[in-house]
Amino acid sequence: MHRSRAFASPLLTSLLLVATAPLAHASSTNAPSKGSPIRATSTARATKALPAIQVTWLGHAAFEVRSPGGTRLLIDPWLKENPSTPTAWKDLARFAQEKPAAILVTHAHGDHASDVPELARVTGALVVTTGEHLRAMKIPEPQQYSVNVGGGFLVGDIQVHAVPAMHSTEPGGRPLGYVLTFADGRSLYHTGDTWLFGDMSLIQELFHPDILLLATGGGRWAMGPDAAALAVRKYFRPSLIIPMHYGTFEPLSTEAQVRAAFQADRRVRFLTPGEQTAL
Ligand SMILES: [Zn+2]
Repeated sequence: MHRSRAFASPLLTSLLLVATAPLAHASSTNAPSKGSPIRATSTARATKALPAIQVTWLGHAAFEVRSPGGTRLLIDPWLKENPSTPTAWKDLARFAQEKPAAILVTHAHGDHASDVPELARVTGALVVTTGEHLRAMKIPEPQQYSVNVGGGFLVGDIQVHAVPAMHSTEPGGRPLGYVLTFADGRSLYHTGDTWLFGDMSLIQELFHPDILLLATGGGRWAMGPDAAALAVRKYFRPSLIIPMHYGTFEPLSTEAQVRAAFQADRRVRFLTPGEQTAL
């Protein structure tokens, strides 16, 4: 069920965005059309004077993203028991003062979702994930905002698109990744936990992410550093790559192993948990 109280024209707008995205980037001579944020991208990029997209890594797969217009989202905010989350971020009460516009959850595993019910209570924010997962978490019905692969909606000035992830989730319907498209046309892709997969080429074609929040830790559960580096080489052309989901606990890959896989790629930025960066 889609709600319009906090999200403006959710489904139709995203369908229009999906439909126009390839056209907007097929040629630099395409004239921007009014009312299409993605079409504004090619001209906006050329100015090199865009307001910042701010990304704060909260450890593991948890991020706070702030749009140039001030919309703040939390993604996979596992914080209280996350060994890499700074102490200042473990007290969920802070989010009562700094309420996110929405909380996006990729899948049901504890290292992504275990703090979400409490954060929903503390913030009153809408929680975005599959309907199955929302019901399993017992998120209050007015705060439930269910999505699935291919769906999208507008929150504040951010278009959010749900995309596939190749993983598992129980309970929770299916695992997701998220692409955020900002008003100036730039975009960010949080992969969730996944192996690299061929449909990443479609994510590039449709959304051309400028920022990758890239799962790299592997271990027994998802793609490791070498596969993550291959995914970037094979499918994406980002300006900024932020590795995540490494080093938190064994047997995830260490930062040194992730650095070795990406070698001297200058687009890769290793953050310290709690650190903010911007594009
Ligand atoms: Zn995980």
